[in-house]
Amino acid sequence: MSGSYQRTQKDIAMLKGKTALVTGSTSGIGLGIAKSLAEQGARLVINGFGDKDAALAEVRAIASAHGARVAYSGADMSRPDDIVAMVRDAERDFGTVDVLVNNAGIQHVALVEDFPPERWDAIIAINLNSAFHTLRAALPGMKARGYGRVINIASAHGLVASAQKSAYVAAKHGLVGLTKAVALECATTPVTVNAICPGWVLTPLVQKQIDARAAASGSSVAQEAVKLLGEKQPSLQFTTPEELGALAVFLCSPAAQNVRGVAWAVDGGWTAQ
Ligand code: NAD
Repeated sequence: MSGSYQRTQKDIAMLKGKTALVTGSTSGIGLGIAKSLAEQGARLVINGFGDKDAALAEVRAIASAHGARVAYSGADMSRPDDIVAMVRDAERDFGTVDVLVNNAGIQHVALVEDFPPERWDAIIAINLNSAFHTLRAALPGMKARGYGRVINIASAHGLVASAQKSAYVAAKHGLVGLTKAVALECATTPVTVNAICPGWVLTPLVQKQIDARAAASGSSVAQEAVKLLGEKQPSLQFTTPEELGALAVFLCSPAAQNVRGVAWAVDGGWTAQ
């Protein structure tokens, strides 16, 4: 194998000594990104609800190969005080937060006139406002230490809309706008701020939507999954958490130091239409 293609230990552990905080990383995309960052040697702060022990075990198994520690925060991304405390705890325990992935998110599907106001508020708080609170807590440390990577997990719905998803579309468009504004504020610093905009990824968040569609239409879950892709995603394939993890790793690399304020679609052509 030629020298340029040989993976050295240094390449593999690009994030050794760095700390990554991934919100909503007990499941789905966040867990996939946390595992990819752990493969690069990063210390990890895992956050989210549900089966946290299984998620922690998966990430710890990867991180331990690099001697990197993994911590858990049960902070609720709808609570600003929890969010700021999570960042402060990470900085206290690990010394730094170098990579911040704002990933936690929820969904609710209904016509705007039927949308429960408390669901609207929860979606805006968790999918958008939480990124403001993590950013204001983590950016000063990143700037002071001379390295920072912020990756906001928006959505194809940060670029285009779908009916019955008003809160989600508003939050994700807001997250793309927040990404651009803060990227500009950081443009002359070593801190980059970008968004990833996935199309359909088969995680619990999407499985619930497929199950609801199958229940409503009377067709099978498998048929509904194919229909769902056919409506929006020309590749007819789900994006995977591993693919998003690989993009997050690239955005953390030195090669991405001038990638700033982008909303990078990984959507099988959804937003190219
Ligand atoms: P998921 O349901 O598998 O995971 C969501 C994560 O967020 C879980 O860890 C959950 O515990 C956590 N979470 C939810 N509410 C929280 C709260 N109040 N505080 C802390 N953590 C909380 O969903 P996913 O599909 O992996 O989605 C992750 C992100 O990716 C979301 O922002 C979602 O909008 C976005 N996204 C998903 C898709 C997709 O097709 N799955 C597409 C585009 C964007």
